[in-house]
Amino acid sequence: PHHLVCLRNDLRVADHPALHAACADPTAQVTALYAYTPEQWQQHDVAAVRIDFEWRQLQSLVTDLAELNIALVVLAADDYTSLVPKLLDWCQTHKVSSVFAHEAYEINERARDNAIRDGLSELGIEAQWFHDSCIIAPGRVLTGDGRVYTVFTPFKRNWLMQLAEHPVRLLPVPEKRTACAVASSQLSARAPSITVPIADGLVQTLWPVGEAEAHARLAQFIEEDGGRYHERRDLPAINGTSTLSPYFAAGVISARQCLYRAEQHKHHHAGQQGLDTWISELCWRDFYKHILLGFPHVCRHQAFKRETDKLPWSHNEANFQAWCEGRTGFPIVDAAMRQLNETGWMHNRLRMITAMFLTKDLFIDWRLGERYFMQHLIDGDLSANNGGWQWSASTGNDAAPYFRIFNPFLQSKKCDPDGEFIRRFVPELAHLDAKRIHEPHAKGVDVRLKYPKPIVDHALARLDTLAYFKALNAAS
Ligand code: FAD
Repeated sequence: PHHLVCLRNDLRVADHPALHAACADPTAQVTALYAYTPEQWQQHDVAAVRIDFEWRQLQSLVTDLAELNIALVVLAADDYTSLVPKLLDWCQTHKVSSVFAHEAYEINERARDNAIRDGLSELGIEAQWFHDSCIIAPGRVLTGDGRVYTVFTPFKRNWLMQLAEHPVRLLPVPEKRTACAVASSQLSARAPSITVPIADGLVQTLWPVGEAEAHARLAQFIEEDGGRYHERRDLPAINGTSTLSPYFAAGVISARQCLYRAEQHKHHHAGQQGLDTWISELCWRDFYKHILLGFPHVCRHQAFKRETDKLPWSHNEANFQAWCEGRTGFPIVDAAMRQLNETGWMHNRLRMITAMFLTKDLFIDWRLGERYFMQHLIDGDLSANNGGWQWSASTGNDAAPYFRIFNPFLQSKKCDPDGEFIRRFVPELAHLDAKRIHEPHAKGVDVRLKYPKPIVDHALARLDTLAYFKALNAAS
């Protein structure tokens, strides 16, 4: 038999349900296939830095798979529509007997997989689908009457209860096969037709690929920082979070592996309160994937709370550009946006501050911010990004109440008390002391600074936004 594993956001060999199942029959020859669909990704606003990361990870994976005598084939197609017949054709030509893959939860990916399912069934090729990306598969954490939770806290309670009853179990790396069915593709040094807008070499240094790297990050985080996570996770100047998100997005590491490791550490060491908070973040990740599958309209650029689509968002292009480029005159917002533009990643607290600033201070439609993030994040993930944006814009499920609007200057003082993070990304303010750096024009515009004055008056903008939301509530 010839077994084909369709790789998607699961670029690893350990704890890989589809690969593991494909290798269960020792007589089967196994091939892994990765579909490269750049036009589709462009339509989905997938960042070049994220595609580049996956491509680099493929280069690492091809070696890991070769050690198991499993070939890695890259099949290029413009989009999902043109991919399906190519994939079916490949299966026929190479006499594939069974296909193994992980379920996707996004709307277009599900349509793609349904077309693959139908095509394989017409060809008489068996297909097996597995859940992978969540710790508990979407659709399995439901309210007493079988509905998808829209509030996080009861979701988490149920999620933890299920895990206490059925702790996660990890799958080993499959045994080496006796022979390869086909030859692996020769991978070019860089991802085809992609230009990464970040200084050459920097992404490789910041985000090295490989399962070993992901596990080293996990081990370092759990052993050194995990216990203090709850105290330090809101301080962007410190490396207090795991920075594993790009590895999750590409599936270089599984969420189960992370949970398992955290639980093991807690078991052997007392006082690991930080790790409980971190496990909550893994739960948020699952929660937003449950929302995506349960309420697919959020995949279609629609607000979770549909009535909020009536908000009269501003179309101020100059303000939007200033936000994108980190020139708003609000140092913490600008430092954060420059971190995103220069490194492909942004700290969670800063994602909340910049998203809240775009939607509540500039009153610009959250969809523009969501799209810009997706186009620039190395960890861009539809469910987490959409969830984070709708939370910040108060248009989502269990979102920030509309009247709780962050004050960007106070947030700045809280999360970057010494101004260290701002100094790193806004060099024109680097000489200012910790008191002045958060609001450099507080005592009137200082032209010597070569730093813009705030593009909006926070206090006034806040009142306008409150009025828009109040009017919306009164009307609905
Ligand atoms: P850690 O603090 O170490 O957390 C561990 C893991 O838990 C993360 O890697 C991530 O997989 C998950 N996680 C943490 N926080 C959240 C959250 N709020 N929602 C869902 N999962 C979470 N995360 C993405 O992975 N991709 C995105 O595109 C994305 N966009 C976001 C947009 C906005 C506006 C906001 C507010 C948040 C967004 N997040 C996104 C969530 C969060 O900011 C990142 O997951 C986190 O900053 C990644 O850093 P880390 O790996 O060090 O996280």
